[in-house]
Amino acid sequence: MSNDDPYLIVGGGPVGLTAALEMARRGLPLHIVDDDFAPSPESRALAVHAPTLEMLEASGVTDRMLSAGHKVRNVVVHETGRVILSLPLSDIPHRYNFILSLPQSQTEQILTDALAAAGVQLAYGTRLDSYECNPGGATATLHNQGKSHRFTARAIIGADGSRSVVRKQAGIGFDGESEPQEFGLADISLDNWPWPFDTAVVQLLDDGIAGFIPMGEGFGRLVSNRENALDVALHGAKIGKVGWTSTFHVSYRQVETYQRDCIYLAGDAAHIHSPAGGMGMNLGMADAATLARLLAEGSEAQYTILRHAAGQAVLKQTRENTRGMTSRGPVANFMIRHVAPLALSIGPVRRKALRGLAGLDLPATWR
Ligand SMILES: Cc1cc2nc3c(=O)[nH]c(=O)nc-3n(C[C@H](O)[C@H](O)[C@H](O)COP(=O)(O)OP(=O)(O)OC[C@H]3O[C@@H](n4cnc5c(N)ncnc54)[C@H](O)[C@@H]3O)c2cc1C
Repeated sequence: MSNDDPYLIVGGGPVGLTAALEMARRGLPLHIVDDDFAPSPESRALAVHAPTLEMLEASGVTDRMLSAGHKVRNVVVHETGRVILSLPLSDIPHRYNFILSLPQSQTEQILTDALAAAGVQLAYGTRLDSYECNPGGATATLHNQGKSHRFTARAIIGADGSRSVVRKQAGIGFDGESEPQEFGLADISLDNWPWPFDTAVVQLLDDGIAGFIPMGEGFGRLVSNRENALDVALHGAKIGKVGWTSTFHVSYRQVETYQRDCIYLAGDAAHIHSPAGGMGMNLGMADAATLARLLAEGSEAQYTILRHAAGQAVLKQTRENTRGMTSRGPVANFMIRHVAPLALSIGPVRRKALRGLAGLDLPATWR
């Protein structure tokens, strides 16, 4: 093992790919593997926020994301068609004053292409089975095409998702809680939708909420705290094609340390939370870009301090927002129907809320 050994990145999701791209850009040697045989075809994370677009400018990826994605410029909250709240995203205090809606499958493809252009190929069909930390590095056992082989690395970056093998083998706990309620989602096309397709629409229901996030003219993602997202009144609109559908439980979990011995954790391997506000992928990509900067500068000891605080803030924000939107009862109803619209009609309050929504309150530790 020597200092010339590459870093081993485990996981070729958006977080592992961002780590690889940001490290390659800084001349750090790396090898990136993924257990799957191709990028995920699922649309999963849609929202790309302003700080992520700014962060990826240096690798030339932002322009490609902007051309492939769809700009969401408004958020409307309504109840049986009566608008309770309308939030123009042009008030986001940033040059990217919108939310870019881009299916995760396309984000991953753009990152993979950029990585290949930088001379790095993601090794698909390669699984990390185990590893040992040694003085000065790590020895990993990788499994590929029915065979195991040993790989020596300077360190291992676990971007291997919420069930992270890297985290589990390091003995790092993933404490938190899971909500009992099940959410449903469906990617659909819509005819006669009464709202413009540059608007994310939140509908208050007796028993919770339903949201529609457009992905383009005439199609988008329906999500609800009903198990079957399609079981929501759409005010005369007709569902056309139904694409990816899924259900999920919301959990709030975070590791206490993002680094131990020869490993670092980033993305869902380190934190999971409600998808409200679409922060998960953005937070993980910022972990990855921060780690790349710190490794290049030799200041990686700061990694946990910088990223744990950001993760903690997002868990708190998404928990409050999710409970606020799905709770019902006289107080919650009054807050959402009267207090929130009144508060958000005040310019500075609205701009502060939009800063939070866009993730601009989080420190840009990747800079
Ligand atoms: C329904 C849904 C909707 C969501 N919506 C949003 C949204 O709008 N905005 C947002 O920001 N986030 C959203 N998220 C969250 C977002 O999808 C995740 O935060 C994001 O995928 C995390 O990326 P990651 O790279 O950390 O992990 P993953 O995307 O899970 O990638 C981990 C990769 O590691 C690989 N892997 C795992 N174990 C191994 C191993 N042992 N060896 C080799 N490879 C391995 C896997 O094959 C996988 O490719 C959503 C999630 C879901 C489920």
